[in-house]
Parts: sequence; C-alpha cells; structure tokens
Amino acid sequence: MIVMKFGGSSVANAERIRHVAEIIRAYAEKRPAVVLSAMGDTTDHLLEAADAAVGGTVDIEKVEKLHFDTARELGIDVPAIAELLGELRTLLTGISMLHELTRRTRDYLVSFGERMSVRMMAAYLQKLGTPARFYDAWDVGMVSDSNYMSAELLDEVWENIPRCLGDYKSGAQKEIPIVTGFIAKDKNGIITTLGRGGSDLSATMIGAAMGAEEIQTWKDVDGILTTDPRVVKEARPVPEVTYEEAQELAMFGSQVLHPRSMIPCRRTGTPVRVKNSYNIKSPGSVIVEKHSGETPRVTAITSVKGVTLIDIESSRMLGAAGFLAHIFNQFLKWELSIDVIATSEVSVSLTVNTKKDLSGLVADLEKASKVVVKKDKAIVTIICDATRSSSILSDVFTALGREGVNVQMISQGASKVNISMLVDASEANRVVQILHGALFG
Ligand code: ASP
Ligand code: MG
Repeated sequence: MIVMKFGGSSVANAERIRHVAEIIRAYAEKRPAVVLSAMGDTTDHLLEAADAAVGGTVDIEKVEKLHFDTARELGIDVPAIAELLGELRTLLTGISMLHELTRRTRDYLVSFGERMSVRMMAAYLQKLGTPARFYDAWDVGMVSDSNYMSAELLDEVWENIPRCLGDYKSGAQKEIPIVTGFIAKDKNGIITTLGRGGSDLSATMIGAAMGAEEIQTWKDVDGILTTDPRVVKEARPVPEVTYEEAQELAMFGSQVLHPRSMIPCRRTGTPVRVKNSYNIKSPGSVIVEKHSGETPRVTAITSVKGVTLIDIESSRMLGAAGFLAHIFNQFLKWELSIDVIATSEVSVSLTVNTKKDLSGLVADLEKASKVVVKKDKAIVTIICDATRSSSILSDVFTALGREGVNVQMISQGASKVNISMLVDASEANRVVQILHGALFG
C-alpha cells in the first residue's frame, strides 16, 4: 500500500483533476490511499467569505462556481457537493447575523473545501470505472485536540486509521479511499483543522499508521530542489534528504512540506517521496531517516522573508542566572515563536516571523533590558552537513565578502543540519543566488 497526496494546485480545475485521476489509476496496483487538499485557492476563498460574512455579506459565488463548473466539465453529477454548498451558505448566513467568527467556526467553515474535493475526485474516478470512495477525515479516525486552527492529532489515531482502512489494505475493499487532508474532529465531534498546509500531515499520518511502503506528495516541480527555481534558474533536484533536513527546509521557507508532517513518518521510518505530476517517470526526491551514502556537504538553500530581529542587551544580567529564562518567558507570554537565536553573556539576538504587533513584548522586555527591533529582514538557511561547517562557512564568507554582503547574525543549528544567517530582506534573493553559485558551482 502507498499514500498519494495531492495539494490544492494539483486539483485546481477539471483539467488538473483529470490528470491526477490518471496518475492515481497508473498506481492502482500499488493500492493507493489518496489524500486531497481543497481545490485551488478554495481555502483562501472560504476565509475571505468568512470575513465578508462577519461584515454582513454572504457570498460564496467563487467557491460555488468553481465546484459546479468543474463537476460539469468532468461530466459528473455530485449531489453531495450541492448539499455541502447549501450547508455552507447557511453557516455564512449565521455568521453574517452574529457578526462574529470564532476559531471553532472558522475551522468548520474551511473544512468544506476538502470535503468537496474528495467527493469530486471519488465521483470522477467512479465515472472512469475505477472504484473509489470518499472519506471525511473522521471516517478514518482522525481525532485531534480542540486547539482550533492548529489542532494536534491524538495518539489514538495510530490505532484508528488501521482499523478504518484495514479492509482496503487487506484487499477486502476494492474502492480506493479518497480522504480529506487538513481536517479532523475533536473528542466532542467538533471539526478542527491541522493548520494551513496541514494536508501533508494527514498524508504522512495515514501512511505511517498504515505501515505504507511509501508516502508520495505530488507537486508541480521535480521534487525538492537545491533552491527556489524562481530565484535561481539553475536550481536542480535533490535526490535524497533526511527527515531532519526536510523539517528544517520546511521551517525555513521551502514550500515543499509542512514542517509537522515529518513527525509521524519519522516514528516509523516510512519514506516520503516528493514527485512531479508533470513528470511521472522522474523519481523525484525521497525523504528518509539517513542518507544512503555519504552526507552531502550542502543539500539546499532556502530563504524566508518577513523576519523581524529583536536585539536584547542587559549588562545587569552579566553572569546572572536566568537571563534567557526571563526573556523566553516573555515570548511565551505573548505567544511568539522564536526561529533563530544567537547569544552572548549580556546580549541575545533572536528572530520572529510574525505579523503580530510586538509592542507588548517589547514593553515587557524593556523593563530589564535595552531592546532594538529591526524589521524587514530575511533568514537564508543552508541545509548542509554542519560537521563540515568550517569549510562551508569559508566558502560562504569568501563569496559574500566579494559581493559586499553584510551578514547581520549567524547561527548554526545544534541539529547539525543547518546554518542560518540574517540579511536584509531586500538582499535575500541576491544572497541566495551568490550562495547557490558558490556552493553548487
Ligand atoms: N487546504 C488547506 C490549505 O490551503 C490545507 C492544505 O492545502 O494542506 O492550507
Ligand atoms: Mg492548499
């Protein structure tokens, strides 16, 4: 058995759905379970519709048109979609009357995207004569906590999924399961979501729990690339990365996979293969526990913009215990997640990647320290064998020095797979280009 996951752009319209259906059919003998995202930008459109409803306007035109047009073009009649759209309209009407939208209602609302896309795909496969059956996440036992918009799956999922999909694995069930990504239900039966991009986690969870041979996530590029091909056109595919490297890639700006999606497959060692839907024959990139050969010196370069640097200095803290504890507590209080950190005895520099207002945090920090906030920064991360950092950094700084780039902070992850540096956001692309040239030749 394998798991095949297709994201929103892979199922964005009738043409893409036809293409994905052919890919699924081509893998039929591997016994795939399929995980889908909502069609195209449906999740964003639902969120826009929610905001409009809070303001008093009920408008599901975009979402409705996309789904009806697609069904018509595919030549299928899916009453279940019309039913969901009716429920969605009722929900939006409710929101428009209350002028209020809780996190819980928001999750219920965005769940319609994935629920419609699996119904569409299952109906289309049926039409092609391929037995298929749609499942909402809870039909395969996806139970989460009640942390709406960013729920965590509960441990019992490991037993629920094999129970629900056991007949398919054993061959007793012929219909290919087409399962919603991204969503779950909590213990009280309330719909939750696993966070934006959470379909990857749904897929790896199912694959790991089912003991799948492989989890495939299908993209529009040749797997994982050495860097963003829009920034560096010489970017090339990376055949193999480790779970740890993939996680760092995802954390630091690569669009490849949701960072949390590595958790289940790491536990079981299930390989994840990133495949190109426009180039089925290409092996893509495989994500595994350990490199099969020698660890490559450099695997990839990523960058993430919209980063803010916070510089905190306190001479009072010289030699005193608890300086960092005090600082981290303020970040905890304001629910801000720190990405990169560099510290000395009396100062600490850290970065956050958030649109949240930082004034409350800064006011708290200023009670004991001098604080400087610098916006519009970017983190450029080199995913590499950091045990060889001296030689890598020597190449990095030779190249950057030659080009007159000033690095404002540098941090080598203890995970030994990354070196991150902070630069001005306006220079990020150029830095990536320089480094790609220097490190990949
Ligand atoms: N549809 C959801 C999103 O756009 C989940 C996903 O695509 O993974 O975030
Ligand atoms: Mg999506």
